[in-house]
Amino acid sequence: MAQFVESEIRRLYEENQWAIGALNVQGDDAMSDERDPTLELQALVEQLGAGNWRMALEAETALARAGQAGIEAALWGLAHPNARVRRGCAGFMDHHGTDACFAPLQWAALHDPASSVRRVAVHSASCQRCKPCPLTGDLVGLLAQMALSDTNRRMRENAIGGLRHQPQDARAVAAMETILRTETDPRLRREAHHALKHQDPNYRARVDAQARERGIATARARKEQQLLRQSTGSCEQRRNQGFSQVLLVHPAITTWFLHCPAYMSRLFEGKA
Ligand SMILES: [Zn+2]
Repeated sequence: MAQFVESEIRRLYEENQWAIGALNVQGDDAMSDERDPTLELQALVEQLGAGNWRMALEAETALARAGQAGIEAALWGLAHPNARVRRGCAGFMDHHGTDACFAPLQWAALHDPASSVRRVAVHSASCQRCKPCPLTGDLVGLLAQMALSDTNRRMRENAIGGLRHQPQDARAVAAMETILRTETDPRLRREAHHALKHQDPNYRARVDAQARERGIATARARKEQQLLRQSTGSCEQRRNQGFSQVLLVHPAITTWFLHCPAYMSRLFEGKA
């Protein structure tokens, strides 16, 4: 799998003629000299994937100090056989990446076999807070594609959520409509619903109108229930009032009721 990643990255570099500078991943000449600075940079790139955060931070600082050569070394590292190194390189680009990093990050976000690498790659491609200025690239296209096709549910959820903060785009609308039509996972559907509300003003107007109608219908049903309860209550009240009025209006009946038990007992005793 790692070989596949490396060969695909190489193919991508060849197709797009991306500069690799001193590293020159196309040949082994640069790796023949032990004192060659590219070897040092490669070692630093591998250190980015170290389990120890202090070592990773040291490597990041040294690569950043190397400037363009450091960035190119990190780009080279995106094809490293070790997924932790690839992830470290993608993370390095979150703080130090340039526009030249967008396409390789996009490729890693869509095709790297490790979801941890894809997660960091899409973050580095899209994050604006960690950089002096955001990377230029087709972020909506990347997020829409991940939302539809990533194998990891969490990654898809994040990609869909990311589209809520991107400019309106027909591809994002089409992707969200597909998800709402075909997806059964409630979390993905909820995210797609919110993203589509942001991306498509017609959808937003339609669902808002439906929500208003539902609200009106609910309020009307509640009011009817309230009226029904009140009318039922007043019926019982009237019945009770009517009964007491009968007793008051006809004192003879009241007397009969009051004396009835005594009368019955006397009847049984044979005195009546
Ligand atoms: Zn960031």
